[in-house]
Amino acid sequence: MYRLTTPLPAVKGIGPQLNALLQANGYSTVLDLLLAVPLRYEDRSQFSTIASAPANQLLTISASLLKISTSYRGRRTVTTAKISDQTGTMTVLWFNNRFAQSSLQVGQEYLFSGKVNDRRTMVQPLFEKLKVDTIHTGRLIPLYSSTLRLKQGTLRRLLKEITTHLESHPDPIQHLLPKKYHMPDLQEALCQLHFPETEPAVVAARERLALEELLGLIRHSHQLKAAWQKKRGAHQIHSQQPLIPNTIPFALTQAQQRCIDEIKMDLNRTSPMNRILIGDVGSGKTVVAGIAARQVILSGHNVGLIAPTQILAEQHAATLSELFPDLEIELITAVQSKRKNIINKGQSLKFYVGTHALINQLLQINPAFIIYDEQHRFGVKQRSAAENLPTPPHVLTMTATPIPRTMLLTIFSHLNVSVIDELPNNRLPTKTWILPETKRIDMYAWIYEQISKKGAGRFQSLVVCPFINPSENEGLADVAATTQKYQTVKAAFKKLEKQKAVDLITQKKRAKEEKQTTPAVVKDKQPIVKIAELHGKMKKTAQQQVIEKMFQQKIDILVTTPIVEVGIDLPQAAAMIIESAERFGLASLHQLRGRVGRAGQQGYCVVFSNTKSSQAKRRLRQFSQTNNGQELAEIDLQHRGAGDLFGVEQHGWGTLQFASWTNFELISIAQHVFKKLPSDWQPLFSFITNDKQLLAN
Ligand code: ADP
Ligand code: MG
Repeated sequence: MYRLTTPLPAVKGIGPQLNALLQANGYSTVLDLLLAVPLRYEDRSQFSTIASAPANQLLTISASLLKISTSYRGRRTVTTAKISDQTGTMTVLWFNNRFAQSSLQVGQEYLFSGKVNDRRTMVQPLFEKLKVDTIHTGRLIPLYSSTLRLKQGTLRRLLKEITTHLESHPDPIQHLLPKKYHMPDLQEALCQLHFPETEPAVVAARERLALEELLGLIRHSHQLKAAWQKKRGAHQIHSQQPLIPNTIPFALTQAQQRCIDEIKMDLNRTSPMNRILIGDVGSGKTVVAGIAARQVILSGHNVGLIAPTQILAEQHAATLSELFPDLEIELITAVQSKRKNIINKGQSLKFYVGTHALINQLLQINPAFIIYDEQHRFGVKQRSAAENLPTPPHVLTMTATPIPRTMLLTIFSHLNVSVIDELPNNRLPTKTWILPETKRIDMYAWIYEQISKKGAGRFQSLVVCPFINPSENEGLADVAATTQKYQTVKAAFKKLEKQKAVDLITQKKRAKEEKQTTPAVVKDKQPIVKIAELHGKMKKTAQQQVIEKMFQQKIDILVTTPIVEVGIDLPQAAAMIIESAERFGLASLHQLRGRVGRAGQQGYCVVFSNTKSSQAKRRLRQFSQTNNGQELAEIDLQHRGAGDLFGVEQHGWGTLQFASWTNFELISIAQHVFKKLPSDWQPLFSFITNDKQLLAN
């Protein structure tokens, strides 16, 4: 009998060599191997006789081996066998599989599982000795990730050995479930996960494991909360007047005001703040954080603000210096910190704004208050730097991701929450259009007209091309697609310019012919549209130059990958053109749309998509019809899962093994069960490695 903690070398069939391979893959106990979750299952449960075997279907045949031989064809070997049952005989072929020849014995009964081709030959079948409880044939068989450098057959054999000899494990959760729920106990769930009897059994098994995972997360959140509450001795910040300096050129919204008050109360305590500030793009989180930071600095402490990218850090430094001219703001990025030794002890108090380079300097800066902008892009290691500070800092995390209430109450229960649920009232809602490809040139012409009317740099547009493979996060293909789009947009506008020039000439000619004076509308000048591209594979300095030019309004159209998504504030941006929009989650689309019309001008969002999927079309329609980010996030959650909720840039957040953020019902059950669990309850496993970064506070 094996326990979950049994070391793998104690498992039958694991010798030193295999053990070394398993260790190299990170498996050392029985549990580790049990948690190697099958990617999918292959249905080899369909049995057939030789005579009635349909072609090209996965099936299993029980037959005896008549003969077997192996020959060489060039560098490959071909093993040919003849098998028979009561209904007939059949040829079986394997390529480069010496194992078949060496392990099959003539005269024995076997199960062969594979597809029969049109020439009545079974090619490359899996096989095993005829028995009741099969591993590789005659059932749903698990298929594991090929990134594990282990053979499928080996993994299946080991897991069969383990699941059939697993010592029973008491499962306290069984009795705590609400009455109408039935789930297999943990041990059963693990067995069914690998060798399910039916497909519904897989679903039930995964649900039980998902519950375990959620319980683990909730427990982790509680532990974080308890640990945080034990912390004492944070710098107590007494309010300084004026709370809101008159250098801020606008009136705060009520929501901003409320969030500032909530933060102010936290700062006034000796236990450190741990708060998340949630607000749609453009809701004005920066100024809220800045006002809080100013309070801390005026009370005699340093503050650090950490942004996920250099561009954002630079922008924050610039806008904060404008909003708070009385503060000394210092930018710290990898570039700066290489250039000089930043921190001079005993100098004036500062608001340090930077990238993760700032995290490396935390000990020297010793901030009483740390602000993370779009925090989920930081790793655990970097964040734990804050743990080593002599005095625990107050921490504020800002995010534009709308987090559903169920999640806030459970998995984020260690965080206090402030929500900016109101946009500054100088904002007009962005007008959104879904356009067919046939309208593209008209749309460009319309933009050209806007630029002509408003003047160069006064009607900036962004053309955003999606990541082709989101998990790659700006691969070469993305860059190629963006560059190509850049070229076609450039060509389209060249054509428009030419057309305009021709029009002007004909108009003038006609005016002359009609002996009229040139009407005022026929100007001699026509705008030359400035177009640029931006993507992450460009040199940092080149990226910076482009952004700079955008700010200086020297560019009219920027063709870019979604790297603009994370918070750049371009006040003159008026139109957002999104290509292959179906590739984005609604929340991401909404974030993109929030980038335009920020200076109070009307913003436009134009969406192109040639998806055939009616569901994708419906989603895009919903996007064009609602301006409510929270609502769109919920739709996203229901359709596509949290990966989209957290945006294309933001991996690692939604990474759960079994559970899904969309399963609100299971999250509620987990919360219900968790309350009744004994305090010393331990989850079977925890997959919080990825989520540590979101839970690190
Ligand atoms: P986000 O919440 O997306 O980080 P920002 O903090 O970048 O938003 O703010 C977006 C823009 O709105 C900035 O130009 C900012 O100066 C401006 N802004 C913030 N609050 C207000 C307000 N109450 N009234 C008008 N404009 C505001
Ligand atoms: Mg922001």
